[in-house]
Amino acid sequence: MIDIHCHIDFKDFNKNRAEVLQRARKSLSAIINSGATLEGNRRALKLSQENKGFVYPTFGFHPVNSYKAELKVLEEVITEIDQNIEYAVALGEAGMDYHHVKDSKSRRRQEKIFERFAVLAVEYELPLIIHARDAEEKALEIVKKFHSIPEVIFHCYSGSMETAQKILDEEYYLSFSTMVCFSKHHQKLVADIPLKNVLTETDSPYLSPFKGKKNEPSFVEEAVNKIAQIKDKKPSQIDKITEKNAKKVFGI
Ligand SMILES: [Zn+2]
Repeated sequence: MIDIHCHIDFKDFNKNRAEVLQRARKSLSAIINSGATLEGNRRALKLSQENKGFVYPTFGFHPVNSYKAELKVLEEVITEIDQNIEYAVALGEAGMDYHHVKDSKSRRRQEKIFERFAVLAVEYELPLIIHARDAEEKALEIVKKFHSIPEVIFHCYSGSMETAQKILDEEYYLSFSTMVCFSKHHQKLVADIPLKNVLTETDSPYLSPFKGKKNEPSFVEEAVNKIAQIKDKKPSQIDKITEKNAKKVFGI
């Protein structure tokens, strides 16, 4: 089992990070920790070095942070990615968020920065992890221009089935978070999406399957169990397929 997207570098885990990692090691074979800011990328790298062969970093700039960043900070993010690229298993998260960002100038800036990451994914031949919220069509339209990105992952996909179909037509991946445990919309999506394009994640500390409890990587099992139930398969079958997908996508 692999949690392909989480943020255990966040300060939410400052008090119990070691325990969270210990619990994860019991049931998971790997964790992909995505950087969302300049500092986040640094923390993701550090965590991966402290947990070699278990925590893998990706470097990005979350669209809710990126559009308001000073140019200097953006350049710093890119420079550090260039310097540390050998450790990255993917780029991202990067993308488009129309839910949090409404004005067109800010959206335009998000788009520019997202394109910058797409270019990096091409240059370094690395997968790209996309955050798209209320902007799935737009993100797809942009990423499609970059044919040579080896793998594209729409993390915590929450868009329509119609857009999901277009994503599948490109042979990209859709990652389902623990949200599938309680969201009818995600359950419907999973029912119609072939397992060969499915990945699993928690997006910890967000989207907990348990009310009042912070999400953590070991809870990815809840997503696997729910997908199994929806697909009328055994959890072990879902685990086998999604883990194989993750290993192939990230080369781990
Ligand atoms: Zn995230």
